Amino acid sequence: MSSSSELGNLALPERIGRLPELACDLSWSWSCEAREVFRSLDYPLWKMTAHNPVQLLRMIAPEQVGRALNDPAFLAAYDAAIARMDGARTAPGSWWPSRFPELSGSQVAYFSAEFAIHQSLPIYAGGLGVLAGDHCKEASDLGIPLVGVGFMYPMGYFHQRVSAEGRQIEDYRRLNYDDVAVERALAPDGSPCRIQVPLGMNNLQVAVWRVRLGRVALILLDTDVPENATWDRELSSRLYVSEHEARLRQEIVLGVGGVRALRALGYQPAVWHLNEGHTSFVVLERIRELVEGGESFLAALDRVRSTTVFTTHTPVPAGHDAFPFYLLDNQLALFWQTAGARRNTFLALGSHDGDGNLFNMTVVAMRGSAAITAVSRRHQQVTRQMWASLWPDVPEDRRPISAYTNGVHVPTWIAPAMETLFERWLGADWRDRHDDPGLWERIPDIPDEELWAARQLLRQHMLDFVRERGRRGWTGENASPVQVLAAGALLDPASLTIGFARRFAEYKRPDLIFRDHERLARILNAPRRPVQIVLAGKAHPADEPGKRALQRVYTHAMDPRFGGRVAFVEDYDLHVAHLLVQGCDVWLNNPREPLEASGTSGMKASLNGVPHLSVADGWWWEGYTGSNGWVIETGQDGGEAAAAENLYRLIEERIAPAFYTRDEKGVPREWIRMAKEAIRTVAPRFSARRMVKQYAEEAYAPMAKRALMPAAVIPKSGA
Ligand SMILES: *Cc1c(COP(=O)(O)O)cnc(C)c1O
Repeated sequence: MSSSSELGNLALPERIGRLPELACDLSWSWSCEAREVFRSLDYPLWKMTAHNPVQLLRMIAPEQVGRALNDPAFLAAYDAAIARMDGARTAPGSWWPSRFPELSGSQVAYFSAEFAIHQSLPIYAGGLGVLAGDHCKEASDLGIPLVGVGFMYPMGYFHQRVSAEGRQIEDYRRLNYDDVAVERALAPDGSPCRIQVPLGMNNLQVAVWRVRLGRVALILLDTDVPENATWDRELSSRLYVSEHEARLRQEIVLGVGGVRALRALGYQPAVWHLNEGHTSFVVLERIRELVEGGESFLAALDRVRSTTVFTTHTPVPAGHDAFPFYLLDNQLALFWQTAGARRNTFLALGSHDGDGNLFNMTVVAMRGSAAITAVSRRHQQVTRQMWASLWPDVPEDRRPISAYTNGVHVPTWIAPAMETLFERWLGADWRDRHDDPGLWERIPDIPDEELWAARQLLRQHMLDFVRERGRRGWTGENASPVQVLAAGALLDPASLTIGFARRFAEYKRPDLIFRDHERLARILNAPRRPVQIVLAGKAHPADEPGKRALQRVYTHAMDPRFGGRVAFVEDYDLHVAHLLVQGCDVWLNNPREPLEASGTSGMKASLNGVPHLSVADGWWWEGYTGSNGWVIETGQDGGEAAAAENLYRLIEERIAPAFYTRDEKGVPREWIRMAKEAIRTVAPRFSARRMVKQYAEEAYAPMAKRALMPAAVIPKSGA
């Protein structure tokens, strides 16, 4: 049963009859008009459902609907939101159709193992998913006919709680599809789409779901189909299983199944974008299609290459999936049969560097793509060095890996209080022009008092949320009083607040700031300049070092020496991320270099006027200007001690003094100057708009144009 048809049966008065449609197109989530519609419909219910309008409409009382129907302000917001949704879907006059009118029929397929669109659709684990989600949202805004392909994980990612001993408790809840904005994808004949993927000696049945995001659709694969064996039904149930064979099977379903789902739904992508190596089986399936149709392997590889873009994200060799050949043989036996007995040739595509019996997913993607991109300039350098063996005779600076630095979707990540300021001081059309650095030159025009008032408000709003989470633990989950303190009960609404939230992995060093207890206690409890720290993040279920780091942090949060000024917020997700990046005063990032490929949470913070305090890694290596935040020097050896020492010194000597030095009006002028610089320098350059336009102009459009040429004149790629 699809949630939208279910909702479609909801008896709503004609005047507001398109509410279910609005709720089922997740483009509502980055429209202030649409959010206002649902918020004003029933505010307590809006909060209770964590901003899920599908659930809200299923639960709302008829009196509330009646009240809205008689409220002219509600009706005006409704009309505006519906008009915006219709506009978003047809995208008249948007960027891509105006820029490339000849490519109006060319589709782009974007494959990713996770997509973070909204907290109500828990099919993401972290930064990779946020990047994919932001890419799709921006493609919709720019009018790019893009279709995302991923997994419908019925169990999603886990919900996190932490025990009194600091151990992460992973709670998986089966998703109720009726509460989510997904619907069955329909084949051209109107029947629910179903495809088959050869896996081992069987053909696995895969159901296909669709999510609407304005102009963009997301196609999600689901193996939880009654005809499949129990173990196969579970295959797509959760993200990133760690067991090798199950993971390989997932990746075959995503790559091979994804291509088949697009074909079954009638898509004809001109360009195929692979987000990280989990998606590389797309290359194999597309070659197999062409070989089955009579082409030679090399001609097929060339055709596929010339229409494929690959984005790599992982700066450590061990982070790239590689499977032994025998595992592939087990899983791909049926696949080889339809691939013209090219088994050895296919396998050779994934082996490299003397590693004769391992099939490396990143190597396949690199050999199968004419455009390879890293996610920051620093990461470009690391990637060129790491994969030197693929281009043995090419000097480092000429190895064909571009840097398209990540960006974040501005309408998604901007706080309402900041939107109001931008509207007034940058102009009502600021959203349409937000990747133009010229627009942001007007940031200094914002009166310091107004920006400071917005910053204070956002901090308090965030702390209200943190306190309510703590209360929920206390009243509903048997949390101990100490756990309630660790959840942030003693946080102060006016203190300088440092935020740290991301996946808890060792290399991100979430506990670096706790290295010297005495020193940190002095900083936090300074009589006139108190400082507090809010942390959040999940460790991957199989990541024991990450879980131990979480446990250490949690123990610190309970330590009375820190005076209740350290809080750990449980169950980090998109919702919590919004509140933290918007509500903290400083955003901390201290990974071991050069392991942060890009990082994006600091971009989200900066565009809300929350300056970044980070080592010069990932995007900050190119984003730091000297006046838009701070760099934590790590010394010659990059060691912990030097990094911690420099972090403390920055807080003591620069950050706390700037925050607490106020003029007669109570405004910290120097602080506000820094906040404005953060917005001015980061918002245009590290926006998803800049990033997606770069992909479109330098990769999608040239590839799509070549695909339109008659076959005879297509030059060989790589020639
Ligand atoms: C932005 C975001 C991330 C990525 O954070 P990094 O600091 O870039 O690692 C992870 N999880 C969520 C929920 C996010 O919103």
